[in-house]
Amino acid sequence: MTILYPIGDSLYVNITNQCPCRCVFCIRMETDHVGNSGSLWLDHEPSIEEVKEEFKKFNIDDYKEIVFCGYGEPLVRLNEIIEISNFIKSISNIKIRINTNGLADLIHNKDTAVLLKDSIDAVSISLNAPDKKRYYEVTRPKFGEKSFDALLKFASQCKKYLKDVSFSVVDEISDEEIDNAKKLAKDMDIPLRVRHKQ
Ligand code: SF4
Repeated sequence: MTILYPIGDSLYVNITNQCPCRCVFCIRMETDHVGNSGSLWLDHEPSIEEVKEEFKKFNIDDYKEIVFCGYGEPLVRLNEIIEISNFIKSISNIKIRINTNGLADLIHNKDTAVLLKDSIDAVSISLNAPDKKRYYEVTRPKFGEKSFDALLKFASQCKKYLKDVSFSVVDEISDEEIDNAKKLAKDMDIPLRVRHKQ
């Protein structure tokens, strides 16, 4: 099973297949891999020790950043991410980013952004929609329509604690909705990237 896989200058960490969403564009419905990753379906969630062992197979200095991405929502494993990131920081100054759906507060039923502040450098949050109704339609989160407000709160708290916070939307939504998402992101002073559906 694939725990670490490189894409370009980034080394991706796949530590869970769990996710509270069912996004209409989720890559997992189309394929089991990204680039040359091999299958990203895990036969078990790797322990912290297993992830550390995997890092021995790679030269971290060959990369510009480590990205917790998961073939699932990485922050389901919040505590493990913090421990693994602290391990990485003990051996390297490499930038560490999390790609997340932004629902960690609902997953863990507490404020989570503050817990990332000493371990994580950057967070990219999938905004996915300009409002709570469309967000619910596009991402189908198990937490219901309150999910969008929780995402926005998580994003604004990340801005307080982390240097680098960004949003993304997939061009699955209309141009007008993308424009509205851009306005929302601008109001929050968070850059937004439009991604093409893979
Ligand atoms: S949040 Fe990510 S992993 Fe989860 S369903 Fe959406 S695209 Fe897939």
